[in-house]
Amino acid sequence: MFASTMVSTAGDYEPNPATLAGVKAETSEELPTNASVQIIKAYKEVKCYSAHKKASLNSNKERAKRITAPLIKAERKRVAKLKRLNEQKEKLRRLRLQQQRALEERKRQESFKKANGGLKGKWKSLGTFYITNYCPCSKCCGKWANGVTSTGTTAVSGRTIAVDPRIIPYGSEVCINGNVYIAEDCGGAIKNKHIDIYKDSHDEALSSFTGYTEVWIKVKGEK
Ligand SMILES: [Zn+2]
Repeated sequence: MFASTMVSTAGDYEPNPATLAGVKAETSEELPTNASVQIIKAYKEVKCYSAHKKASLNSNKERAKRITAPLIKAERKRVAKLKRLNEQKEKLRRLRLQQQRALEERKRQESFKKANGGLKGKWKSLGTFYITNYCPCSKCCGKWANGVTSTGTTAVSGRTIAVDPRIIPYGSEVCINGNVYIAEDCGGAIKNKHIDIYKDSHDEALSSFTGYTEVWIKVKGEK
């Protein structure tokens, strides 16, 4: 009676027939009847206890699952919401930065045009360049001292500058210290951020501004 009720409530407990047979064989022949009954009872109690414990463990696991499932779901939802909010914040930050940069660029444009009154169109700063001057003499141009630029035009003071065409394309309008020039010549020593401004005479070339200044280029296709 004891065994049948306890084992059946455990449900998933299956006693090992071999072990049970071993206990029976051992006890029925060598021990007095009351002792064998005691041993079988104790054995069954232990088995029933562990089966019962197993069942209660399983039900505890189920209960734990039932309790934690909604908590896990809520936590996942919270993390997803946080991620969404952070993404929105980042998007807003990038947008603000973009607006700020656009505003700064507009201010630069305005102050540039104010400083160089009368300039039309859109101009872009190329940064600081080293400015030198040259004339068509052989001291300045060596074997190229003929007054013809590398693009085939006749050099004109106040218009012609020699540039590194990898940095400033030929034909570009370039503003240096308020004057607008055309990039139409090059030179062996004129590399990277270095511009040589054409002057009519060697004296003028020697006495003109030499040094570093900000250089602007006209953006093509913009009126
Ligand atoms: Zn010269």
